[in-house]
Amino acid sequence: MTDSSLQSEIKEILSQGPIAGFVGGEDLPSSSGETFPVIDPGSGEKLADVHNLQASDVERAVDVAAEAFKNAEWANLPVNERCVYLHRLADEVENRKPLLSQLESMDCGKILGQAEEDVQNFIDTMRYFADLAQNMQLRTVLAVKGHEAAYTRHPWGVCGSIVPWNFPFLLCGWGIAPALAAGNTVVVKPAEDSPITTLYLARMVKELGFPDGVVNVVPGLGEVTGAALSANPKLSRMSFTGSPEVGRLVAAECGRNLVPVKLELGGKGAAVVFDDIDVPETAQKLVDAITFHTGQVCCDATRWLVQKPVYDEFVNEVSERMQKVAIGYPSDEGSAMGPVVSEKQKGRVLGYLEKGVGEGAEVVLEGGSAEVEGRPGGYYVKPALLSGSLDNVAAREEIFGPVAYIAPFEDEADGLTKANDTAYGLANSVWSSDLGRCQRVAESFVAGNGWINSHNVVVHGVPYGGVKQSGMGGGVGSLETLLDYYRGISVVRPL
Ligand code: NAD
Repeated sequence: MTDSSLQSEIKEILSQGPIAGFVGGEDLPSSSGETFPVIDPGSGEKLADVHNLQASDVERAVDVAAEAFKNAEWANLPVNERCVYLHRLADEVENRKPLLSQLESMDCGKILGQAEEDVQNFIDTMRYFADLAQNMQLRTVLAVKGHEAAYTRHPWGVCGSIVPWNFPFLLCGWGIAPALAAGNTVVVKPAEDSPITTLYLARMVKELGFPDGVVNVVPGLGEVTGAALSANPKLSRMSFTGSPEVGRLVAAECGRNLVPVKLELGGKGAAVVFDDIDVPETAQKLVDAITFHTGQVCCDATRWLVQKPVYDEFVNEVSERMQKVAIGYPSDEGSAMGPVVSEKQKGRVLGYLEKGVGEGAEVVLEGGSAEVEGRPGGYYVKPALLSGSLDNVAAREEIFGPVAYIAPFEDEADGLTKANDTAYGLANSVWSSDLGRCQRVAESFVAGNGWINSHNVVVHGVPYGGVKQSGMGGGVGSLETLLDYYRGISVVRPL
């Protein structure tokens, strides 16, 4: 596809008038007629209007998905035939990768190359779960005394999935691929800041001949559309990815209906850097991590704990490198860091800097608002680095921007205690040339993920999840996830 035909296709998608939800293979506009604007964070300009689906619309979506499950056209397909659909979807997303990446980049302000990686991740996720499901042993005979027994797995029914704005397409894939591979139907609620690629995907699914009602997308505001989905008693499962505050609300609603819920929440990850590392190399890797998607990454390393002998040198290296990060419009060549997702998010980042300094944090690198030439309306911020007491609000709470907090530690025990002294438990990393020490420290993190000499390492086949305030019931991207999407039944006959 040439650049100009790509641009004209994007224009066509975005200029068709308000984009409706997609339910039962058809457009579903909001019953109230309400819409909300979706903004390009890189320019502050409106990309499109999207329908704000109401509680009754969500109810309809769940009913349609339940009917599609009951018809069993999807659930009863032989698994290899069902997985042909998933492979077909992966192939078609691959064919349309330039278009989807561009849309994703504009929708959530992601550097184009990173949006391409997200789309590739969606493709890989579809293929991974399709292949895994085909190799699942769904019936296990259990050798027990005096009984004939077996444990059998079946799909649940309708699975809800509520997705945040930072990795919209990638996380949509993480939510729907295992659910569909296992034979469930899905209702996806994308984030209001970035719903476009998920809505586009719903129409692709229809084009590819998936049975109607298998994949449904309900765009809208969290407190309306998301709340209605979490409160629906006909759901069989719910997967929520987002903030701990909203995760609690979703879990409470699901709890009322005893709907099993999986929460993938925020983080305040630590990087524990020992004094035997290559300082410039490690500094660059952590700067890359904190500026990746402008720091709006749940598993990011935002607390940099550095062993005393190299602390001063490390502070100098990282602050020099952070100042050099090229801030620019996400699809412009040479841009290394784009905007944050919204004006509200920009206010949140700047607000945390102010609160942190107000509580006595030392400013190593001030950060603040940034300007990008020709994009006066974009929501740009500069990378910032604070230091001081780890009790500071900026060291304790998730900021979700390119802001790191740096502090020294004495020895292994001290580094580990400081890393684990947080309400969160998503991902920490350890950096040292002593791999034995790395292994020891990584295994002692109270977190879902421990990474060695690297950060943001998410691999298909390895469960990714959080503990404490970072998640519940979890792990995505692995066999564990697929197993979540089957309900089990034990069948026993006394002999
Ligand atoms: P958010 O919690 O504000 O919103 C997430 C989703 O929930 C959105 O679709 C939103 O519309 C919906 N929502 C809002 N209010 C709701 C309500 N009352 N009931 C039901 N749904 C509601 O989060 P966000 O700002 O979109 O995303 C950022 C957060 O997500 C951060 O905390 C980040 O760490 C977390 N996150 C976690 C992971 C992970 O895998 N652990 C991945 C990405 C993001």
